[in-house]
Amino acid sequence: MIVELIGKEADLTFECMHIVPGKGDCSRIHPHFHYVDVLVDGEFDDKRRIVHLYKLKAVIKRICAAFEDRILVANYPESVQRIEDKDSHYGIEINNKLYLIPKADIFKIEIPSLNIEDLTVYFAQELARDLKEDELFKTLNYVEVTLSEGHGQRGKLRLDLK
Ligand SMILES: [Zn+2]
Repeated sequence: MIVELIGKEADLTFECMHIVPGKGDCSRIHPHFHYVDVLVDGEFDDKRRIVHLYKLKAVIKRICAAFEDRILVANYPESVQRIEDKDSHYGIEINNKLYLIPKADIFKIEIPSLNIEDLTVYFAQELARDLKEDELFKTLNYVEVTLSEGHGQRGKLRLDLK
């Protein structure tokens, strides 16, 4: 059976900023309001539950918290983005502009781009790993993450938990 969490209603949201390589509006630093819908498929436990929803929400919120109010920086190739480590700051050169940003304000993610596709893969993999590590979620078969970046745009990925 399937149980779903609707991000907008369950408060599974985060707001963050990013800069996309290129020349359009997205090449300037700009915010996104994200929300995450999560679907799990599993077997009934002895308490007639598929999943402990409160605990599942806590795991998702922990992943959201890493993004909250941060500027996202991905591993774009050097031809697109150069990052210089300046002690407490990063100097980020992108789109012929240099941003000097405190490290505390940045979430540096080991993904090849900040496209919704790569963000969805990252989020789903983090969640699947956390669920697999916890005995509480052992009755689950798979998890499906739908990550929205606003403007009616979202990525969706299903990962096996067995
Ligand atoms: Zn954007």
